[in-house]
Amino acid sequence: MGLGRVADTMTDQRAAAFTYDGGAVQPGETEQFRYPVSETYLGDPVRIPVTVINGSHPGPTVFLSAAIHGDELNGIEVVREVAHEWEHEHIHGTLVCMPVVNVPAFMTQQRYLPVYDRDLNRSFPGRSDSTSAQRIADQLFRNFVEPCDVGVDFHTSTRGRTNILHVRAEMDDPAVERLARAFGSNVIIDSEGASGTLRREATHAGVPTITVEMGEAHRFQRTLIDRAIDGVASVLAEYEFYPAEPVDWPGWRTVVSSGEKTWLRADVGGLVEMHVRRGSLVEAGDRICTITNPFKTDVVPVEAPFTGLLVGALENPLVYPGNPLCHLVELEGTTLRAIRQDRSGALPAGAE
Ligand SMILES: [Zn+2]
Repeated sequence: MGLGRVADTMTDQRAAAFTYDGGAVQPGETEQFRYPVSETYLGDPVRIPVTVINGSHPGPTVFLSAAIHGDELNGIEVVREVAHEWEHEHIHGTLVCMPVVNVPAFMTQQRYLPVYDRDLNRSFPGRSDSTSAQRIADQLFRNFVEPCDVGVDFHTSTRGRTNILHVRAEMDDPAVERLARAFGSNVIIDSEGASGTLRREATHAGVPTITVEMGEAHRFQRTLIDRAIDGVASVLAEYEFYPAEPVDWPGWRTVVSSGEKTWLRADVGGLVEMHVRRGSLVEAGDRICTITNPFKTDVVPVEAPFTGLLVGALENPLVYPGNPLCHLVELEGTTLRAIRQDRSGALPAGAE
């Protein structure tokens, strides 16, 4: 499985059908269908929209998925545009596009599956004889993830927070590292990912997969969507899906291990005024935000403990002690110099 199969397909010089339980998409064909993964209380099917675009030339099979958390919308637009607005006539390979994976959570506009609040993104690879979440995960994994060579899963920050566009990837795995770098984001956070996430379980099953985090829940954020679409184009270029297209270099890049990122937390309850925007470079000692009480009397400043990039921040301005305020990534010399040179400390492209 995995990239070995790319080589096999390439040497065959024949494009193969993409098959799933219930159908097949032949080379040169595009199929749009709704695939049943569960049933409602009424016994009606719960079906997820899938588009499979099988090119007439052989090449890798790539899956793109979004809204595994039902209220994380930015990725939906990325996957839809790639599936339905791009020219696919000359592609070398197969695209499997799942713009709305968690249909029950999407319908209720929440993160988790409505029944028992289960997290679909902790349920992979799934089991056919277990909970509803595990059964849905199993259907998706067997039919549309395992047959692929690489995958990109789109997320946003949790409701009430926001983050810059960045990639999360298990960088110890060379095949994942290749994919992560190909996306062309400035920031890559290196982590294995939690057990049961699509990214981790697909990667461990031989399908290198990255997560792309971008912006807020409940929004279409056009600038971020456009950058993510460029990222998909760059990934497809890396695997010669479009042999003539170049792979992006983002100008500067920092690969951060999970230990090097810090959530600054509130020590008091109150109302937060942010002074720095998502994506900004902050110097050690800069005031990031202030927390005040309803009388605006007790003013508690929060300062940056080190120089770094503001990767994530809260959107909802209300905090209890212990609530996260912002997510700061420490930057070292060469990256810092590159950013200062590139942007003079201003917002990276695409930050809103
Ligand atoms: Zn998510």
